[in-house]
Amino acid sequence: MSIKKFLNLFLKNLCIGCRTPAELNRYGFCPSCERKVVFIENPPDSQNLHILRYEGPVKDAICGFKYNRKTYYGKRFALLVYDFIRDNKLESFDAIVPVPLHWKKEFRRGYNQSAIVSINLASLLKKECLCGVLVKVKNTVSQTELSESERKKNVKDAFSVRRAGLIEKKKILLFDDVYTSGATTAEAKKTLLAAGARSVIVLTLSRA
Ligand SMILES: [Zn+2]
Repeated sequence: MSIKKFLNLFLKNLCIGCRTPAELNRYGFCPSCERKVVFIENPPDSQNLHILRYEGPVKDAICGFKYNRKTYYGKRFALLVYDFIRDNKLESFDAIVPVPLHWKKEFRRGYNQSAIVSINLASLLKKECLCGVLVKVKNTVSQTELSESERKKNVKDAFSVRRAGLIEKKKILLFDDVYTSGATTAEAKKTLLAAGARSVIVLTLSRA
């Protein structure tokens, strides 16, 4: 056993997917989970980019991050997003804006998972992270049970911009953890553009 492997086991470095102690890759997955992680091929020049398929160990890791207080996963995910941005030469934006949660939801959860990744990502890229500029003003119901048209209606006017001067004429990277129908990010993007952002690229860690 290598010293590194021994130390990893000793320090109980648990895989973010299956929670077993193992030698982990850069993103926190063990070799077995790493093989099950599926990277998404985005069409060229897409303004809606997604990195991983929301399934298997990726889904388990994101659920742990969101619902099980594994906030330290945020650093691992930020590294993954950082590598994606570097590999795809997407660095030419000014600021990162996380998709916000309604304050009641954030209060219950204790944190906004997308903001945690965005803050870590901003520090890796030496960019500005604008938390609190885009706010969720409507406490929408869960999108999972809704049809596509109901989803759009559900998120309509759900967001608002505070201190619009901070995003005015800026190229924004809008970040979220999971992309499902795209209704949420589309509405958030529309709100940022209406408030004066020059452009908005949507980037999500995963796509359902
Ligand atoms: Zn694993």
